[in-house]
Amino acid sequence: MKFSEIFHSIQGEGKLVGTPSVFVRTSFCNLRCVWCDTPYTSWRPEDRDVSVDEIVRQVTDVECRHVVVTGGEPFIQVAELTEVCARLADAGRHVTVETNATVFAPVAADLMSISPKLRNSTPVGDAWEARHERRRLAPDVIRAFLGAYECQVKFVIDAQGDLDEVHALRDEVAIPAEDIVLMPQGLTADETQPRMAWLAAACTRHGYRLSPRMHIDIWGAKRGV
Ligand code: SF4
Repeated sequence: MKFSEIFHSIQGEGKLVGTPSVFVRTSFCNLRCVWCDTPYTSWRPEDRDVSVDEIVRQVTDVECRHVVVTGGEPFIQVAELTEVCARLADAGRHVTVETNATVFAPVAADLMSISPKLRNSTPVGDAWEARHERRRLAPDVIRAFLGAYECQVKFVIDAQGDLDEVHALRDEVAIPAEDIVLMPQGLTADETQPRMAWLAAACTRHGYRLSPRMHIDIWGAKRGV
């Protein structure tokens, strides 16, 4: 499996925020978000191979019930992802898979953490602009995930105008409001915190959840945390 890192930390986002978890970060992504917080898996992907056996061994060596398989985009390596998830589930782990929801496949997951990308993610003027824009939203894929898994649907919000896209996708795909999680864009606490007050107001008004990006608030853009 194309792989970037395994580390033991806390889940910084979403319904399980604050939960101690082992993270398996796959490398390579089919999108190029302009504000990507793991460019070493997307814009400049690390190209290391590791066996499924080695991933499972390293994860299960840690006494920690929750595992988060993230990326990059894990579903573009679907054969390996399927095996990793099945073996971690067999080992009694609670498995969250984090995905940009552009590729669907059935895997063993307790929580599917979907993060569809809004227009604010598009790298305008870059060679990737057209490909990113064409791929970033796949309503049928989001629908398939919602029908097959317990889900949370996370949105990275940059400006208040982004909320109209969230409402439109909610209505188009029939996403339950309580499964929608709004998070502030930013790679430092100085960037995320000013957005939290108006995000809180929007969540209150629309019945969405508000999530910090706790790892960024604590450690900034540091890797492996
Ligand atoms: S989908 Fe995720 S990993 Fe891929 S470019 Fe966007 S933020 Fe980065």
